[in-house]
Amino acid sequence: MAVKIDKKIKGYSVVTAEDKAKAAPPAKDVAEAPQPGAKVIQMHEKIERPETLVGSTYKLKTPLFEHALYVTINDIVLNAGSEHEHRRPFEIFINSKNMDHFQWIVALTRIMSAVFRKGGDVTFLVEEMKAVFDPRGGYFKAGGVYMPSLVAELGSIVEDHLKAIGMIHDPELSDAQRALIAEKRAAYNALESKKNSDESVTTARDEHSGELFPEPRVSAPRRDEDVAVTGDGGTAFPPSATMCHKCSTKAVVIMDGCATCLNCGYSKCG
Ligand SMILES: [Zn+2]
Repeated sequence: MAVKIDKKIKGYSVVTAEDKAKAAPPAKDVAEAPQPGAKVIQMHEKIERPETLVGSTYKLKTPLFEHALYVTINDIVLNAGSEHEHRRPFEIFINSKNMDHFQWIVALTRIMSAVFRKGGDVTFLVEEMKAVFDPRGGYFKAGGVYMPSLVAELGSIVEDHLKAIGMIHDPELSDAQRALIAEKRAAYNALESKKNSDESVTTARDEHSGELFPEPRVSAPRRDEDVAVTGDGGTAFPPSATMCHKCSTKAVVIMDGCATCLNCGYSKCG
């Protein structure tokens, strides 16, 4: 609605949702209209910690440490039982037998907890953390996803948690994309099983490496990243798969002379 102003502006104030609610005529048939007195509580730093919080603990095993890290994120439930019920992260702790990085971990988790309690959009933490890379090199976690650093993996845990409580939503794959990926995986499996049956005639394959002529057992142990590729968690991709630049997963195989990702469906040849 355009309003022509033909007088000097001497002052102004912004119309808030409350003003609008007051100005609006009392609608009888609008169920969503906030009831007078019903106040929606948003996350802010003055909210006191209840005695009990609900939360989740994630186990994080990296090739960097001998011991696992246990990441606990506790949530507060705001406006419980109402249509404005929200679950928001409230605090994060990390526990481990490993004490090497204790001071940084305590500092990081305290600051993250403070950000959680400030409220607002805390999802930026995920992007910030996932962008941190370790100058000594990253590693592959189970399922073949590349983690540029431990901090980045913590970021992906926070991301998983925020997805679980509904603060972050995955961009939905279209049915066409899903079908394409399924088709490519099936085609690759068919190709592989054909290859395997051809090879089994000539020599027994080394089950672990999948190489036709495995190196002698006395050779140096394979590096972690070679072994951990198809890991036990998530979807397993062929050990020979290379890194996909679109989804950071070791899932790119050559099919019909064309690099194709079996995770997200990305293909060099379109
Ligand atoms: Zn991909």
